[in-house]
Amino acid sequence: MKHNFSAGPCILPQEVLTGAADAVREFAGMGLSLLEISHRDKNFVSVMDEAMALSLELMGLGDDYAALFLQGGASLQFAMVPFNLMKADGGHAAYLETGTWATNARKEAQGFGKVTVVGNSQDRNFSYIPKGYAIPEDAQYFHTTSNNTIYGTQMQEIPHFAHGWNVCDMSSDIFSRPRPFHQFDLIYAGAQKNMGPAGATLVVVKKDILGQSGRWIPTMLDYATHIKGESMFNTPPVFSVYTSLLTLRWLKANGGVAWAHQRNSEKAALLYGEIDRNPLFHGTTAAEDRSHMNACFLLHDEAAHQARFDALWKEAGVVGINGHRSVGGYRASMYNALPLESVQVLVDCMRELERTA
Ligand SMILES: *Cc1c(COP(=O)(O)O)cnc(C)c1O
Repeated sequence: MKHNFSAGPCILPQEVLTGAADAVREFAGMGLSLLEISHRDKNFVSVMDEAMALSLELMGLGDDYAALFLQGGASLQFAMVPFNLMKADGGHAAYLETGTWATNARKEAQGFGKVTVVGNSQDRNFSYIPKGYAIPEDAQYFHTTSNNTIYGTQMQEIPHFAHGWNVCDMSSDIFSRPRPFHQFDLIYAGAQKNMGPAGATLVVVKKDILGQSGRWIPTMLDYATHIKGESMFNTPPVFSVYTSLLTLRWLKANGGVAWAHQRNSEKAALLYGEIDRNPLFHGTTAAEDRSHMNACFLLHDEAAHQARFDALWKEAGVVGINGHRSVGGYRASMYNALPLESVQVLVDCMRELERTA
């Protein structure tokens, strides 16, 4: 048995993997694989419709929003957002720079107009979330990253920008906790962090914000195209959408984002508790900004303890906890599907290291 702490692509519930494998063999009693039928077949159209509807339902959003399953990853959203939302004349957007992904988003926006970086935590290697900044009132939108996958910080509260639209990259904590989703005008998330396999990107957009930029937008990059086409303007990534739907059903059956939040909080409390208690380890981020999804931590003395610790957790079946190269050490990602028992196994390895050091 493996304990999968990978930062992405992520662990998925076992029943979701089984359901996805079944559909690859035979889908909906059709005598054919999900991968070899027309996406216009009613059996797949109903998958897409349910995936879009369930995404909105789990966020508590109504039909003034559209949920879309698009391609190109969260990285394409870095460009689609300013392309659709920044004014051709007098384009201005505000970005909060809390990590590499936020930086990548900000760089793309600069190709479309003026960008104000309202806060930036690079001075301390993105180990905290800047606070107490002002957002320029003439910005068309304010862009945030709710969870910084690489550095292990998470915005507990996301300040609301009252003078324009609120846009958030929720790739690595979507559906992991309740948020005031109705206060956002556009939310996007690559499926592969907390929902399904790579290949689909969820975009949730408030419909009335579109069509105001005064720009010509290429057909495939225009959200309006995909709203009109109900996420089927062109051939959708059927496997990723279907598997994501199975995860969304699993989440709903268990109690939705409130249930996920409860469970994720318990996992985070267990691991951070040990990081703080164990004299051999220390965390890398400001305590109040710690991510419930990705916990980054270091050994105080790598020369003395790293080899033994690595052997311990490998022996226990733990995988995917090597830190990202920009932080080093360890990163344990605790996405929705990771059970509390897996965190306990990792914590036991940390205790065993201390006991035998
Ligand atoms: C992984 C990640 C991305 C990039 O996602 P892709 O789908 O690979 O383009 C963007 N933002 C955040 C917060 C991420 O964790």
